[in-house]
Amino acid sequence: MKEAPRIKLARLPTPLVPLDRLSGELGGPRIWLKRDDLTETAASGNKLRKLEYSVAQALAEGATTLITCGGVQSNHCRVTAIVAAQLGLKCQLLLRGQPEDPDGNLMLDRLVGAEVRFLTMDEWRRVDEIFAEEAERWRSLDETPFCIPTGASDEIGLWGYVNATRELANDFSQLGIEPDYIVSATGSGGTLGGLIVGRALHGLGSQVVAFNVCDDEAYFINKISADIASWERRYEHQLDPSNLPINVIDGHVGPGYGEAAPHVYDTIRRVARLEGVVFDPVYTGKAFDALLTELNRGQFTDSEDIVFLHTGGIFGLFPHRQQL
Ligand SMILES: *Cc1c(COP(=O)(O)O)cnc(C)c1O
Repeated sequence: MKEAPRIKLARLPTPLVPLDRLSGELGGPRIWLKRDDLTETAASGNKLRKLEYSVAQALAEGATTLITCGGVQSNHCRVTAIVAAQLGLKCQLLLRGQPEDPDGNLMLDRLVGAEVRFLTMDEWRRVDEIFAEEAERWRSLDETPFCIPTGASDEIGLWGYVNATRELANDFSQLGIEPDYIVSATGSGGTLGGLIVGRALHGLGSQVVAFNVCDDEAYFINKISADIASWERRYEHQLDPSNLPINVIDGHVGPGYGEAAPHVYDTIRRVARLEGVVFDPVYTGKAFDALLTELNRGQFTDSEDIVFLHTGGIFGLFPHRQQL
């Protein structure tokens, strides 16, 4: 297998902790949290694990400027902007949506000096062209740009969670547990894809399951299959195709990406008060609420231990202050 270049950005390993009071109240499996919200402070969350590989690749190619894209309140864009500042690189963000009062992630993007271009929905549909245009503009300024796709979800960023799976295997053996499920939110697919590859590569017994916070099951099956195939080609390692199940549980998107039903906010409040753990309405709160709904329906109740991946997103909470 070819090795992927990597730089150290995240504080690893992150803790794996049980939610005892919540598990007691639920009366079902013991729920554990993998605290990937603790990978850093301002640059916290799952994207930092992926960027250890994406940014290493950028540096290997001599990049001086990182270009990436996402929603106005993208966690991925915020982490990329902060990492760029940490490394003395320039950063340009292509943000889908309207300019709004800088808040949450957007406030931090501005603070660390990222250049922001807002894209209309029409422009977003041809974001690949806009990446190319902007890269050309940076080259004309004597910079070397490197483009990172949405969420750093490609065959390079996939390594972040391939690697996290090995960390989880170590956590499990140290704690003497064999969780039946590892549960996560999925938004651009790279976290789930990485977990799936890592599970196969490291022979983990747990099943990997994700709740989509946008799009639908078919979209993620396509996207993740394509990313895994690119990973296999680029790093020259063939995986057993029968050992790569893509388990996406659809039906919990609610009103849409970035919008949540009242019960999601109730779950965020409940977990905050009971456990002192903060989820966000876009990803972790929505997915954790979905897990509680499925437990209520009798899903997952055959298991003793379930690990929920806390992927971060705390700054996405602030623009939702009115609902909280
Ligand atoms: C991006 C993100 C996710 C989803 O991860 P993907 O790899 O994009 O599927 C989940 N939680 C948070 C907080 C995120 O920022």
